Amino acid sequence: GRFDTAELDGLAESMNIMAAELDERIRTITRQKSELSAILSSMMEGLVAVDKSENILIVNDAAAEILGRQPADMHGKPLVEAVRNSRIVEFVRELSNSQTPMSCEMTIVVGGFVEKSVELHGAALRGADGERRGVLVVFHDISELRRLETIRRDFVANVSHELRTPLTSIKGFVETLLDGAGNDPEDRTHFLEIIRSHTDRLNAIIEDLLTLSHVEQQEIIGGDDFVFEPSPLAAMISDVVSVFEERAAGKNIALKHGEIADISIDTVRNLFEQALVNLVDNAIKYSAAGTVVEIGAQIENGSATISVIDQGAGIPAEHLPRIFERFYRIDKARSRKLGGTGLGLAIVKHIMKVLGGTVSVKSEQGRGSIFTLVLPVQRERADDPVS
Ligand code: ADP
Repeated sequence: GRFDTAELDGLAESMNIMAAELDERIRTITRQKSELSAILSSMMEGLVAVDKSENILIVNDAAAEILGRQPADMHGKPLVEAVRNSRIVEFVRELSNSQTPMSCEMTIVVGGFVEKSVELHGAALRGADGERRGVLVVFHDISELRRLETIRRDFVANVSHELRTPLTSIKGFVETLLDGAGNDPEDRTHFLEIIRSHTDRLNAIIEDLLTLSHVEQQEIIGGDDFVFEPSPLAAMISDVVSVFEERAAGKNIALKHGEIADISIDTVRNLFEQALVNLVDNAIKYSAAGTVVEIGAQIENGSATISVIDQGAGIPAEHLPRIFERFYRIDKARSRKLGGTGLGLAIVKHIMKVLGGTVSVKSEQGRGSIFTLVLPVQRERADDPVS
């Protein structure tokens, strides 16, 4: 056949329109696809969709990360091979037969050794006709949440235990007294003194717990309980030394400090002093008679470095990473006998966080320890109101 020009024009026009429409559709699809992939990749939650025959249709970066795999190694693969976890596969199979969405929590092992707590939510995917198309699963990594819960549970258990020990002793001695041991004046005084020492201990634990929670509160939610102001370094150090002079002398320990620059640091005076008090207290507590405890301070590159150096018991290397944890003590009985609560260094650690500084330790068993505080001389004032 033959076309006349009018027909040809008409055809060309329809083709142009079709091409334009097609172009528009492709553009729309491309845009939707990139929107979808932007959403998927910015999601904190892992997302996996499988088709009816359990092949992976969609997997986002977060899902691959949670499962310890590369997205490219999962895409288009059979589920079993992509997730390598029989319980997840089971969950997906249950979902595909379920009328309603389902959730579950499981511990998965990733890369052979990392354990993760994962929460899964899922639902069957259905087409417009109601026919099953596959399954969609959302993954939440809740390991951090579980870890914090465990820490809190342990902490409550520890506190209860620490408080119960002196309480049990107090009760025991009160009963001994009631049973007649109080008739002899010497015995009575002896038992009452023991009771007093246990109440002192209860007091010390509660004081330390309150300090810790006060400092932590500040660290987490902020507030203006603590005021940063220029504080004279030399005066703060002599304040702390004067607190301990008597005790050090009583134990025949020479407590001294080197020359300290006449400089002010922008800090919370009572918190800094509390941190230093805890370090000096330990240095004296864990040192023998005839030794030296020395406080040194240096200013360098806008930082103040304050060290407390002792020639005491030292800390075995395997304990060093843990001594800043609450209630962690190398020798429980010894710490207790010396009046320790196991909270002193935890308080120092949290104070240093509030002050924008750090605490660190170097120690050698049998030779002594050096605890070092590093603080900015000038505080960064990112949160100052713009005037
Ligand atoms: P405690 O109240 O038991 O002293 P801390 O939190 O202050 O608790 O210290 C934790 C543990 O670290 C102590 O029980 C002790 O074993 C060890 N320690 C701390 N400071 C020193 C030090 N200067 N020399 C030796 N051991 C120390």
